[in-house]
Amino acid sequence: EKKIRRIDSAKDKSRAREKDSERLKVEENVFDVSTLKILYTLSNKGIIKAMGGSISTGKEANVFYAEGPEKELAIKIYRISSSTFKAMDTYIMKDPRFTNIRNNKRDIIFAWTRKELQNLKRAKSAGVRVPEPVLAEKNILIMEFMGEKEVPYPLLKNTPLENDEVKLVYDTIVEYMHLLYKEANLVHADLSEYNILIDPNNITPIFIDMGQSVTLEHPNAREFLYRDVKNILRFFSRYGIKDKTEELLKKIQAE
Ligand code: ADP
Ligand code: MN
Repeated sequence: EKKIRRIDSAKDKSRAREKDSERLKVEENVFDVSTLKILYTLSNKGIIKAMGGSISTGKEANVFYAEGPEKELAIKIYRISSSTFKAMDTYIMKDPRFTNIRNNKRDIIFAWTRKELQNLKRAKSAGVRVPEPVLAEKNILIMEFMGEKEVPYPLLKNTPLENDEVKLVYDTIVEYMHLLYKEANLVHADLSEYNILIDPNNITPIFIDMGQSVTLEHPNAREFLYRDVKNILRFFSRYGIKDKTEELLKKIQAE
């Protein structure tokens, strides 16, 4: 019953967003010709059976629902016209995995998209629950849809937690940060209640949005980890979690 309530409220929110983004889609021109061509090819190959509605319109990317041959899919499309790509620069240029990227907007966005796919793969192999990545092609990332019957799971931000759920959600997030760090050699680098979904079936967290995640060799990795830790502690302080920043940092970096 609790689950139904949660799904219903997520549904209403996603409907509201859909209206908004229908309008934005036209204005922002997500589907430029080259993006349309790729979507067309993917649909000819049977990777996408049908495109669905918009799930989200963000600063750099739009996320759409799609039907796959086997399961529901989420399609994240980075806008080539995105104005904030300069910020991507600082993340990608210092990443040893991406040293040969030409310094132009399209290439940076394509590299960014591949990076998100790779980060999701690494996270998944490390045992972190993330959407299963399917493929990256130019500015398009296809992944598992985290939701049911076209309704995405709610963000942690929009999921009121019962007293008995807080500890489990918090501990799992900390465990995922630890696994990311130790097993995947990654720092999420944009972790907050906005990039964690909650599966209402078992109230477990799912990490999303890993385009900006960096390997530990990145010169700013420690700083990003510190920021992630601060964000999580700030969010959970409302639920009475009082862990100290330094202790949590140690725990995440422990063997
Ligand atoms: P942005 O860079 O715009 O923040 P995100 O990757 O965070 O991009 O995705 C934006 C929103 O789209 C998320 O807040 C979430 O609601 C939804 N979303 C993203 N990926 C998925 C997915 N795999 N399944 C379901 N919903 C998703
Ligand atoms: Mn996000």
